Amino acid sequence: MGRFVASGETERQPFPAESPARSPEERCTGLLFINPPSPEGETWVRCQHRAAQRAPDGMVWPQVALAQLAALFPERRLHVIDANARRLGWADVEAEVRRLRPRWYVTQVAGPILEHDLRGLAAAKEAGAATVAFGPLVTPVAHELLRRFPLLDYVLCGEPEVALRELVDTVEGCWEARPPQIRALCEATTPEPWPHTLSTVPGLAWRREGEVILNRRPALIPRLDDLPLPAHHLLPLGSYCGPATQAPAAVVVTGRGCPGECCFCLKHVTYRQTARVRSPEHIFEELLLLRSLGVRHVYMQADLFTLCRDQVRDLCRLIVAEGLKLAWSCSTRADTVDEELLRLMAAAHCQRITWALESGSDALLWRAGKRAHVADAEQAVTWARSAGISSWASFIIGLPGETGDTLRQTINLAKRLSLERATFELAVPRPGTPFWEQALSHHWLRPGASWREADPAGPAVIGYPQLSAARLESALERAYREWALRPGSAWGQLRRLSQSRPGWDLGMQMFSPAS
Ligand code: SF4
Repeated sequence: MGRFVASGETERQPFPAESPARSPEERCTGLLFINPPSPEGETWVRCQHRAAQRAPDGMVWPQVALAQLAALFPERRLHVIDANARRLGWADVEAEVRRLRPRWYVTQVAGPILEHDLRGLAAAKEAGAATVAFGPLVTPVAHELLRRFPLLDYVLCGEPEVALRELVDTVEGCWEARPPQIRALCEATTPEPWPHTLSTVPGLAWRREGEVILNRRPALIPRLDDLPLPAHHLLPLGSYCGPATQAPAAVVVTGRGCPGECCFCLKHVTYRQTARVRSPEHIFEELLLLRSLGVRHVYMQADLFTLCRDQVRDLCRLIVAEGLKLAWSCSTRADTVDEELLRLMAAAHCQRITWALESGSDALLWRAGKRAHVADAEQAVTWARSAGISSWASFIIGLPGETGDTLRQTINLAKRLSLERATFELAVPRPGTPFWEQALSHHWLRPGASWREADPAGPAVIGYPQLSAARLESALERAYREWALRPGSAWGQLRRLSQSRPGWDLGMQMFSPAS
């Protein structure tokens, strides 16, 4: 199996000539998957299946995407460094990279902290590794990324698993050594006959003689059940936790994509209008694996968890029938559930649903492509409560068409519903989404703002003629303050007490969540 160089094409040398000498066993081995450290004093959620953001309340997000990528290389030497979970800084990570001397350095990146995330490239190149970046933001900006970061060799656009396997096998010429399951998965996803060249690896962005090349869009894996189960055992499961989630925790991806048309949704970038779900049996197998690894809480992740009612129903029946006691939570939209399904989910140990409600205005929801009704949200939260499932909800401040009135409707809805927790975030147009195109064509982007600032915690990157960026930021603060002080909340009760007790007010201001 010699190193493959495509005829008629100058292949870029992926490994520097000064690479340390490698033993024969090291050839075709040595992949390092990395979730980079967070900037000092912060914790970030980086995730292939959702937008990157600062973690709320010390959440440490399980890196299932790294585990899934690793699972495609069962015959190789693998390492995962989740620097976020292990609280490592860049100096620690660089020391690990020098010690491990990986052949491939595969890193997940987040938009707002891109420069920070790519700091490890220099150490990776020193160690002789080829460098690869992936993440939901990179697909529409891969060209820019490769131009700006000369130490970055490759970018994986779209679904990264098969693209990475094809890339590694193409560069190393090791495709004949693929385990049968991996070979079948790759052949089903990229039907071009082997041998491949760099220019036929689907979804790859790379350089040829200094010029950035974007290959054709990645093919989507036809059947998600053909993916091997993620290599969860490589992750520091005991470090993963959330605001209401006990460690060890894990993420299980139950589906990818959604046929919806919400203008702000990141699924447009990777999945467009496609949607695929895993079989209940395949998911259940993963749950059993996680249980055996000591996991106590699972977050079921999908763009739209209850997209396929039959899948969720049968998964819940399986969990109940097999007596699997594993707490889980999920996020979904309110108009894709019914009372019977929620009762079944509760029986299968679903503890919490985060409802992606976005707005309290029907008109705004329809304009944003969400096409949901506020009445459905009220109904779903009521059903969930009676089934014994606690409800969280997420809202977006500043969707197209937002006004003072619609903001008021959103805040009122959050206060009215029986929620254990509400989160509000600023609308962020991300490249590759319809919202991004609208923001560009209507000049909604704040002067000087770029896609790299896509952080929903602020500052606002857009403003409207009727609602400036500054007003959106103060609306976000107001939403949190009003929700925290709503009737029935602990803060609200303290606030009312303070109004009848001189001297309490100063203390309330100091400790109010929004102050
Ligand atoms: S329903 Fe959810 S997953 Fe589907 S497009 Fe809308 S926001 Fe995205």
